This record gives sequence, C-alpha cells and structure tokens, in this order.
Amino acid sequence: MNKPKEVLKDFTKNSSFCAAPWLHYYRSPIGEVAACCISDPLSPQLKLKTFEEIINSEEYKKLRLQMMNGVLPKECHLCEKSNNNIIYKDNVNEFLEGMKPKILENTLDDGTINLDPVFLDFRFLDCNITCNTCNPDYSSSWLKKINKVESSEAYNLKLQENLQDTSFFEDEYSRVINNFQWQRIYFAGGEPLMKKNHLKILEELKEKPFHADLKIFYNTNLSIGKTLLKNWLELLAHFKEVHLNVSIDSFGKFNDLIREGSSFEKICSNLDFIVFHKPSNLNLKIDLTITSLFFYNIFEFSEWILKNKYSLNARAMNEFGYLGAFLRPEVLKISFRKKVFLQWSEWYCTLGLEDQDRLKNLFEVMTMFHAEPEFNEDMKKEVQKHIQETLKYELIDLNHFIKFNMKQDLCVDINGIVNV
Ligand code: SF4
Repeated sequence: MNKPKEVLKDFTKNSSFCAAPWLHYYRSPIGEVAACCISDPLSPQLKLKTFEEIINSEEYKKLRLQMMNGVLPKECHLCEKSNNNIIYKDNVNEFLEGMKPKILENTLDDGTINLDPVFLDFRFLDCNITCNTCNPDYSSSWLKKINKVESSEAYNLKLQENLQDTSFFEDEYSRVINNFQWQRIYFAGGEPLMKKNHLKILEELKEKPFHADLKIFYNTNLSIGKTLLKNWLELLAHFKEVHLNVSIDSFGKFNDLIREGSSFEKICSNLDFIVFHKPSNLNLKIDLTITSLFFYNIFEFSEWILKNKYSLNARAMNEFGYLGAFLRPEVLKISFRKKVFLQWSEWYCTLGLEDQDRLKNLFEVMTMFHAEPEFNEDMKKEVQKHIQETLKYELIDLNHFIKFNMKQDLCVDINGIVNV
C-alpha cells in the first residue's frame, strides 16, 4: 500500500530530480515517447498510447521513482555529462521551480502522479530541407531523399513505420493542445512552419484563457515565404513571450552546404523582415550547430553576428546525423582546430566588451575543440560506419566536403578510418 503523501521526503531537492517526467510531454517527430527531447526514448509500445495512458505507465513511474531515490535514470545520461556546458535538466527545473510544491503534493510513493502537464514539446516530421546534420527521423524531405535509393530491408521497414504512425500522433497533439492549460509550448520539427495547420493551431491557442501567460518557443529554419512570415508574426503578438531560435550553421554558401535546400540569402532577408516588424514580445536568437565546415568561415560568421547585433546560441554537433560523419568537428586534425581557434581567439580578444559578450557562448564551445579529440574505439567505429554509409548510398557528393581544403585537415580518410 502507498505511504501517505506527507511522509515522502522532499525529493525535489535530490540532484537527480528533474521536473520533466512530471510536467512535460514530449514525442519525437516519429512519435517516440521520451521524458524530454534529449532523453533516450522509452519503449516503442508507448508510441501509440495517449498521454493519459503514458503518464502513469510502468516506465514513467520507474523513471520518476529513480529520481525520487536519488538516481539519474540511464535514459537521462546526457544530463549527467554534457559536452556543451549546458545541463538541460537545470533549465527545466528553473522554469518549473514554482511547481515543486504541487509535484510533492501529487506524487505517490510508487511514482504515480495526479498532475496535468504544463510544458508541451510539439514536433512533426514535415520539413522542407535536408540538413546534412539531420536524418529521416526528423525530416520528411530526408525521408523522400532516402526513399529514392536502394536501402536495407530493415531501414525500409523503419521508413514505413515512420510514415504509418503520423496520423495517430497528429490527432493526439490536436487533442492534448486543447485539453490542458499550457504554460510553455515548444514548436520544433522537422520545420514547424511547414505544418499546414500551424497558423490554425496558433489561432486556436490565442482564444484560450491561458494565452496571455503562454510562452512559445520555436526552432525554425526560417526558409519560408514572406506572406506566411507576416501572418505568423501577427499571430505571435498575442502571447506572453515568443522565443524564436533560427537555425543557421554557418555563413553564406557554407550554411547552404550544411543545411541543404536552405538559402542563406533568403534567411537573411527574412531576418531583416522580422527585426523590422517584430512584435515587442519576440526574442530572436541565432541557433548555431558547430560542424567541421564552420571552422572555415568562423570569422565571416562572427562578423555577421556582430554587424546585425544578433543574440547567439552555439552548440557543437554531437550526433552523427544520418550521413553527416564528415561534419563532426572531431574529424578535423587537432593541429588544424588549434590553429583556427588561436587565430579566432586572438581576434576575439581585440573586441569590445559588448561584442565579446555577444560571442561569449561561441567562445566557450570553441575552447572545447582546442583540447585533444575524444576518439575512443567505439567512436572510431561509429565514424567509420557512418562514412561508409555515406559512400554506399551516394547521397552526398563527398567532394562538397573536401573541396574547401578539408581533405588535408581531416584525421579521417575517405574510407572512414580514423588516424589519431
Ligand atoms: S534529466 Fe535531463 S534528460 Fe532526463 S528528463 Fe530531465 S532534462 Fe531530460
């Protein structure tokens, strides 16, 4: 029998505690259920379950029980060791700090809860571009691209699965968005603005009694037309705060090479439009994923950020993408990374305080690449596997990746063998 609630000690003080499994609802673009976007997915059997069926499932209760007993679940390993100096758990807990008494009040000692979620992570597969850092689990354009080539039976099955489940979780999102009082909604993808009914969702949200307190977050590639952009900005004015993170991974042609299908010129034009027309509740940020190609125009990118006075959030590419092994910064020789970092940091030190502050986050992440690479045996095998897939499917012209003098700067050969 469960102990009375008041006997439970204050587990929210545990360092392993994270409010996400209590108050957050996340599904990946292919419907996988996880405690948050960086946590490992839970059982595939949860994929076709509703929120109400998931939240007190044995798997969710187990996650919560571990946190209540001072153990960080294995699914949450990225919150233990972050290679970007950002612990996502700290952000979640900071945002949900005020909800702790409610969490304690409504949790039983077996991990069961009686709480409504307040933070929704809303994702779909629809996307108009095929970033080389991405994969078919996050982009419908990638799905189309990969479908054109011969792939393994196992992979074909996975593609079919991805496509099949879409209608279920589209309905599920429409239902939950109307059933709970959200404090925060994060729209990502895929590309959220490629979802045909996205503006309709905002129209409906702005009629909800909680809309004036709602904080909306986006991650967008901003590769959209002006009419959609204008209509979207008008709707965003109705909410308490809007945080717009625009994914741009380098400057000019390098960005378009990494983010295949996007146009740096078009994005800049859209950014100018936003700066000119933005509602007062909107915060704009450039969201940079640092790849190997970024090292070739870090100066142009930095100057562009300073010239436009953009806020910048930088992080390192820490996945392989589907075919993007050549984009991991670690594939560059340490001597090359050090050379670029030293040149750039010398320039950085000549900047005024305001400019330094604007690029501070980039500086912090770049210092990591100044250190020795972490190529353990497992990672070497991963790199080799991904590069060989790249070659097998012939989806990427590898010359793209080596035409900027990159070949001589790599510590990985064309067969994916790591030589460090
Ligand atoms: S501990 Fe980290 S990985 Fe786990 S749910 Fe919280 S934020 Fe996500």
